Amino acid sequence: MTPSQIVQFLDQHVVGQDEAKRQLAVAVYTHYKKVALAAPDGLEIIKSNVLLVGPTGTGKTLMCETLSRVLKVPFVTANATSLAQTEYVNDEIEAILQRLIDKAEGDIGRAQRGIVFIDEIDKLKVVHSQQGQMRGTSGEGVQHALLKIMEGAPVKIKDAHYIDTTQILFICGGAFVGLEEVLARTKSYGFISTSEADNQKLLDRLNSRVKPTDLFEYGLIQEFAGRLPIVASLKPLSRELMVRIMTEPKNSIYSQYQQILQNSGVELLIAPLVFEQIADLAMEYKVGARSLRGIFEEMLTPVIYLVPDHPEVRQVRITSLFDNPKFIGSAPAA
Ligand code: ADP
Repeated sequence: MTPSQIVQFLDQHVVGQDEAKRQLAVAVYTHYKKVALAAPDGLEIIKSNVLLVGPTGTGKTLMCETLSRVLKVPFVTANATSLAQTEYVNDEIEAILQRLIDKAEGDIGRAQRGIVFIDEIDKLKVVHSQQGQMRGTSGEGVQHALLKIMEGAPVKIKDAHYIDTTQILFICGGAFVGLEEVLARTKSYGFISTSEADNQKLLDRLNSRVKPTDLFEYGLIQEFAGRLPIVASLKPLSRELMVRIMTEPKNSIYSQYQQILQNSGVELLIAPLVFEQIADLAMEYKVGARSLRGIFEEMLTPVIYLVPDHPEVRQVRITSLFDNPKFIGSAPAA
């Protein structure tokens, strides 16, 4: 698949985030090209793992998961915070790789070409606090442990089997609160003086990109930051994007519920205003698109409760989040 085909597929499931989609598609395309070249010629592959920077609930996990589906490779997620909470970080990492093998139905070869998404990488930043380390492994310790598998190493798993992580694509994610301030401090391409507007645009672009040095400034160790040369940024979701998320993607929450009711011969109609109201509420919760489903399902609880007992109902209309649903065909008492 070409990068543009990958983006087209992502577009069916992930709303917005166009720049990040393109960057991720190119990174993944290049990664699997390198893997393909490595096989026949024994070419050593130098991996470029990817970092997705963006607030919670903006589509980082969804993008990786969708990607793995289009590429038909096994996929698992892990969480850096929980890695730091254990004293046995290597055991935890082994468990992640074991899950990848399970996803590949025991086929180690397939697992070795899989994707691992590790969220909350920013929580591993090195803190120089006065207090002693709490239980668990320090952020720095976790970074060292992850570095080993990201660089590529045979890792022993159960039953004396090994999994080689050289060709596994690691995608890291995190909100990186405060990274903008670091970026503002480290704008550093200015020494190339240029008069042409085009060059200036390129320089501006380079300056606004997150570089490994910025990640180092932020608190990741240098070797780890250096292993994440590709950084894609996801934007906070606007109200308009939230509305689109509920209605547009294949398998959107709206179409799912329309399908459920259609199976009982009932048409579900929700007015555009309702999606805007839900989006407004979700914006207040500040967890991106994560709260949409909960609000939506709560709104439909009375409908799903009543409809199965009233086969005469043909249509349900919701015109406002704050009004009762209207049942057409009969009027069951709410
Ligand atoms: P995070 O950025 O924290 O990894 P997720 O990808 O897990 O966020 O998103 C949480 C949920 O919100 C997803 O399951 C999906 O339903 C929805 N969502 C978030 N962002 C988008 C998006 N850009 N397009 C479509 N759905 C989204």
